[in-house]
Amino acid sequence: MKVVLQNLTKVFPSRNKKVNEEVVAVNDFTFTIPDGKLIGLLGPSGCGKSTTLYMISGLQKPTGGQIFFGDDDVTDLPTENRGVGLVFQNYALYPHMTVKQNILFPLQNLKGADKMSKDEMLERAYYAARLVQIEDLMDRKPGEMSGGQQQRVAIARALVKMPRVLLLDEPLSNLDARLRLQTREEIRRIQRETGITTIFVTHDQEEAMSISDMIVVMKLGVVQQIGAPQEVYDNPLNLFVAKFLGTPPINVFDGKVAGGKLYIGEEAVLDVAGVEDQEVFVGIRPEGFVLDDNGPMSCKLSSVEVMGRDVSIVSENAASANPVVRSIINADNKIDYSRENVQFSLKPHKVFLFNKETEERIYFEVK
Ligand code: ADP
Ligand code: MG
Repeated sequence: MKVVLQNLTKVFPSRNKKVNEEVVAVNDFTFTIPDGKLIGLLGPSGCGKSTTLYMISGLQKPTGGQIFFGDDDVTDLPTENRGVGLVFQNYALYPHMTVKQNILFPLQNLKGADKMSKDEMLERAYYAARLVQIEDLMDRKPGEMSGGQQQRVAIARALVKMPRVLLLDEPLSNLDARLRLQTREEIRRIQRETGITTIFVTHDQEEAMSISDMIVVMKLGVVQQIGAPQEVYDNPLNLFVAKFLGTPPINVFDGKVAGGKLYIGEEAVLDVAGVEDQEVFVGIRPEGFVLDDNGPMSCKLSSVEVMGRDVSIVSENAASANPVVRSIINADNKIDYSRENVQFSLKPHKVFLFNKETEERIYFEVK
């Protein structure tokens, strides 16, 4: 099911009549979510992710704009008639019911033509339970299960009605690190198997990048960039997106373009043909540094962290916006730990320039 968001807007009015404190939680969001894809809605806390999801589900009414499922305008349709499955961070299972009863619950409330026989309901419930691999736990109560298992039950309950759209709001946030990793792969598998158009909300960029067909990056209610995860990582449109994606995060420096060369401090570190002379922010991905004794960029060596396949070189540079510069180098490189400075050359396609005022990307020719 294709989902179309057209100029979707949500304004929460000011609670205090004397001062204007209205919040534009979602501002003019237009996007067509292709059928059968998993979309990661990503951004820091408070950027409008949940509000967007609640409008798609019908739990909240938009202030402006429209929502279509396929060709149906669902903007004014109540939640129960939209055919959406919802999963929240806190599972929200009925504690006094068994797993089976929890999963059956949405089916027992179906009315009219949708009403199902007991056998049909059980068949559906077991189908959903098998999808999330909890069919052996059907007689347990939620309190007798781990967080990961409870979240599987919640996902099964959302799937049992065969929703047109599956909506997940930070579903992994209550799980520990290992379960988070495992469950996100499960969600990806379930999504592939069922082909249900899925919107997955998270503030965790790594989570969104790892399972999404496309990501939508939001900031203060405004969509910043939409694209395939790798595409957005490789081609951020502005400094916010560049900083939000990637671990370790991108390194940011104060820089200057003069005569087609990029300067960080006194050092001309890169040819940036086609860029006018100006002050810029320079973003360099950790993997954009190459250890090179003849390289143009010099940093003061602080420490070297071994990570197995790679090493992380921690250094300092006066022009850096952060206390330290992090570069990731293949562990095959021999590093003399005792030296005071390290020299780098830069991979041009890992270096991004941004306007100092607007923080929009400035493009240069990569030779
Ligand atoms: P996210 O899910 O990305 O953390 P939300 O969508 O929950 O963000 O919130 C977006 C903005 O809208 C925030 O500034 C939040 O405080 C505000 N907001 C959310 N719900 C309400 C509400 N019911 N009343 C007033 N403001 C709200
Ligand atoms: Mg939220």
